[in-house]
Amino acid sequence: MTLEQILFTQGFGTRYDCRAIILSGSIAIAGKVMDDPDQRIDTNGLVFEYRQEQWPYFEKAIIALHKPAGYECSMKPSSHPSVMTLLPSPLRKRNMQPVGRLDVDTTGLLLFTDDGALQHRLIHPKRHVEKVYLVTAKHPITEDLCNRLLQGVILDDSPHPVKAKAVKKLDEYRLEMTLTEGKYHQVKRMIAACSNRVEKLHRIKVGHYTLPLSLSEGQWLWIRKRDIL
Ligand code: URA
Repeated sequence: MTLEQILFTQGFGTRYDCRAIILSGSIAIAGKVMDDPDQRIDTNGLVFEYRQEQWPYFEKAIIALHKPAGYECSMKPSSHPSVMTLLPSPLRKRNMQPVGRLDVDTTGLLLFTDDGALQHRLIHPKRHVEKVYLVTAKHPITEDLCNRLLQGVILDDSPHPVKAKAVKKLDEYRLEMTLTEGKYHQVKRMIAACSNRVEKLHRIKVGHYTLPLSLSEGQWLWIRKRDIL
């Protein structure tokens, strides 16, 4: 692939923009400035530098963001900024989409990808990809609450009980809950159906991927499919 095509596929703008970036001497590979847009480059394991930042080449990209509270997952946010504003411009331009949604006040692991097949696989209820949430409740966590979550509760949009795959009480007010579906406000509605209330919600895991403790709110990193599935 030519250097111009590489930048174009990675979200650096129109072909014209990418050419201009390269001609301006802003792209380097292994410390060497690459200013020929037509130079053919092997993309296998390629990492290029743009404005002192390293950009690994990915045909399809996946990133993990530590979502802070106060951001909407919607592409057309209504009252808070979109989570997209937390990503650098090339990631927005290459059409990375959040994998499922977290509420405005929910924090924690949010994946993004421009791989449509992966997106589908991760959110489809029949695929049963596990999502683990850390719940802080308003009232004490009782054994009865944990049992009801495991046995299934009725939510208002379905006659079938919705179950947690696993529930672990952590302390008086906190529990860890594993779900395999992604219904609207599912955790909050399940807890409310058991006469308690979610005060704080934080997602720590999707599939096999756990949010690294070293990743602060608002930070993101590149990950691979094999990290999740
Ligand atoms: N369940 C909820 O209630 N909210 C979220 O943000 C995610 C799961």
